Amino acid sequence: MIVEMKRKASRDEVNSVVEKARSLGFEIQLNLGTDKTVVAILGSNTGQTPIDIFAILPGVESVTRIMKPYKLSSREFKPENTRISIGNVQVGGERLVVIAGPCAVENEEQLMQTAQGVKTAGAGILRGGAFKPRTSPFSFQGMKKAGLELLKAAAGRFQMPVVTEIVDTQDVELFSEYVDIIQVGSRNMQNFSLLTAVGKSKRPVVLKRGFSCTVTEWLTAADYILAEGNPDVILCERGIRTFEDSTRFSLDLSSIPVIKKYSHLPIIVDPSHAAGHFSLVPALAKGAIAAGADGLMIEVHPNPREALVDGLQSLTLSDFSRLMTQLGPLAQSVGRLV
Ligand code: PEP
Ligand code: MN
Repeated sequence: MIVEMKRKASRDEVNSVVEKARSLGFEIQLNLGTDKTVVAILGSNTGQTPIDIFAILPGVESVTRIMKPYKLSSREFKPENTRISIGNVQVGGERLVVIAGPCAVENEEQLMQTAQGVKTAGAGILRGGAFKPRTSPFSFQGMKKAGLELLKAAAGRFQMPVVTEIVDTQDVELFSEYVDIIQVGSRNMQNFSLLTAVGKSKRPVVLKRGFSCTVTEWLTAADYILAEGNPDVILCERGIRTFEDSTRFSLDLSSIPVIKKYSHLPIIVDPSHAAGHFSLVPALAKGAIAAGADGLMIEVHPNPREALVDGLQSLTLSDFSRLMTQLGPLAQSVGRLV
């Protein structure tokens, strides 16, 4: 249930709504917007509670039941777009954010060379997997803690925030020490204990779409993070599994305007994992920007032929740099900057 307060509602009036909800055993979350406060009333049986209980309280403008399963990520709860500041980068603002780097951190030289190249080309955030969720237990699993150390060193050297994927709830503290943004990968989008754990951290979270999950399931997963008090969730569309087999996954560009319509959270697009092939990446990246994405996450490797993971879909540094140049006018045509 969403209680929208009047523009000039006092702090006491907001508090009386909060106290009423708590006395009925509900949890609450406040959106202290610039214009007005919105109170989300959360609980499994809000459906049985008459809305009049809140509508009658002083300072209340309206009370609405949210029939969607997601609440905190919905635009009803927070009409204004969420903007997330990470160092000197903002996600969800006018300027698009480009996250780039290797699929996996492999060694110091590979990471530093990539960081320098993508930074020079205009990327704002460095990516690199230290713990890799691999389909086979016999594939390279990542450098783990040594990879986190290299990411932290690269962040310092190139003054770029870094993002890396978490696969275990027990690692949240470790990740918070080493990286600026924590990624929850596609395979873990509905790992609810992992979502709850990253929701307790102070780091922004990139939540990739599960490749067999609907937009509704994705936003409901985001609610797990928001409900723990972490407001900084960046959604990342990375393609879904369909009958089409000419690409690794089918990039669902329609999720971008759908998310923009129903949610306040920023959405970026990973064209690399969708495409599965470097030659397709630029077109998908451009399509994402044209469709209104807030940014991109792109796999880049200084020598894709030698890459331990996902070499076929990785751009070289020069391909990436060319793409960045091409994105400028395109971004401008949809009212954004790169
Ligand atoms: C990744 O970004 O490194 C990754 C494994 O992607 P996804 O979770 O989308 O497959
Ligand atoms: Mn990859």
